Amino acid sequence: MKESLDFIYKEQKELSYFGGIAALLGWDQMTYMPQKGCGERAEQLSMISRLAHERIISDDFYNHLKKLDEMPNMLTERDLIVVNKLKEDVEKARKVPSEFVEKMAKTTSLAYTAWEEAREKNKFSLFAPHLEKIIELEKQYCDYIKLPGHPYNSLLDDYEEGMTVDTLRKEFGVLRSQLVEILKKITSSAHYQKQQPVKMKLDVVQQKELCDILLKRLKLPFDRSRLDISVHPFTTTISDDDVRITTNYEHEGLLASFFSTVHEAGHALYELGLLKGEYKDTVISDAPSIGIHESQSRFWENMIARSKSFCTYFAPVFKKVVPDTCKDMNIEIWYRAINQVRPSFIRVEADELTYCLHVILRFELELDLLEGKITVTELPHCWNQKITDFLGITPKTDKEGVLQDMHWSGGEFGYFPTYAIGTIYASQLFKQFLKEHTTIREQISQGNFTPILNWLSEHVYQYGRLITADEIIKKTCGEGLNSKVFIAYLKEKYYPLYDI
Ligand code: ZN
Repeated sequence: MKESLDFIYKEQKELSYFGGIAALLGWDQMTYMPQKGCGERAEQLSMISRLAHERIISDDFYNHLKKLDEMPNMLTERDLIVVNKLKEDVEKARKVPSEFVEKMAKTTSLAYTAWEEAREKNKFSLFAPHLEKIIELEKQYCDYIKLPGHPYNSLLDDYEEGMTVDTLRKEFGVLRSQLVEILKKITSSAHYQKQQPVKMKLDVVQQKELCDILLKRLKLPFDRSRLDISVHPFTTTISDDDVRITTNYEHEGLLASFFSTVHEAGHALYELGLLKGEYKDTVISDAPSIGIHESQSRFWENMIARSKSFCTYFAPVFKKVVPDTCKDMNIEIWYRAINQVRPSFIRVEADELTYCLHVILRFELELDLLEGKITVTELPHCWNQKITDFLGITPKTDKEGVLQDMHWSGGEFGYFPTYAIGTIYASQLFKQFLKEHTTIREQISQGNFTPILNWLSEHVYQYGRLITADEIIKKTCGEGLNSKVFIAYLKEKYYPLYDI
């Protein structure tokens, strides 16, 4: 038994090293790698995925696991938890052949570079053949995993364990119609008609200074993290003490880099705070789902950083860093400016209200592509039609439409829904947090964010994968995913902003 336990713990440690190596290669590819490095980088990444996958699915590993699984009474509580979770993961991974994993890694690495070029040149046809290949691979993957119900469940499960198309169709259906209705009310309000876009021209140095101050205030440890630049902001974990985030200072929109940095900091704080201790380097020291991960970034970005009390605290900081631009700043104007609703094309620049419509659009298109209801060639047209239905605006180019996100180039079908799931979870957590912290608004306006961090740590971070995302939400909020809580939160916030 000892031999088997030693074996599985050593494997988990080395697999987490493989994960870190792949993350570092990926981070480098999206930040500093010269363009022509992409060919060999694809080979390197695919080799790492293949080696890791071979380890996960090896008979040796599985046999040791099965041996341990057969003697549950001999195991400590920790070992039992690790063995159960690991066995689930391994049995799922064993359904997928190594050649497939390698093929997927290679295809997506090349597709990412093609997507970058297509987006740059606004030419969907450069990316289309890659996307076709990826969709075929996604279908093949669903065939390997074969979860009950809709084939897409097998894709969803990789990001949001246990989530199904049926649940999402129901929750997103309610959300979609309510969001369109709230949006209509807002866009036909007198206040909206008078609304002017607020422009704030800050140079890169000023933006960077604001982001650095922000990260310090949020207590992101500088000796365990760093901030860099990429086309699409992201967070990646190289090791327990090396979590990296990126932003983009070129994005349009009021303080886009500032808010994207809050968002990524939310992810990074979670990664750095995740359950470790006796579960370090095990399958348990990880997030239970991407939706939970996203709830952590949305919580900080929307519920905290776009609140009036946060404006109260940060206004003097802005006045100090960019005195000319902010000399007439008033907290009420400022609060309204950063919460303006304005239907727009780019998901990452969307306001809090319309954001989930962008996500639901992608979820519906992914289902249509997978079910063969639409082809890749028809995709740009279908995209434009849907966004017109949802938001009442039509993109003029594919760059501001179908080519804006990198996810499909990475083969991440099933990922987009987690953005909306996370947003809903965030509103549910926030509702509970407010109940327990009645004076939090004053504390935020004084720059005291510690109670938030402590609460999230106690109710989310500390669990790692000990329990599922659904269990975390049920335990803390008393019920599972409920889009109605998010809708109520939006109405409470946005109706007064638009005098409705
Ligand atoms: Zn995120």
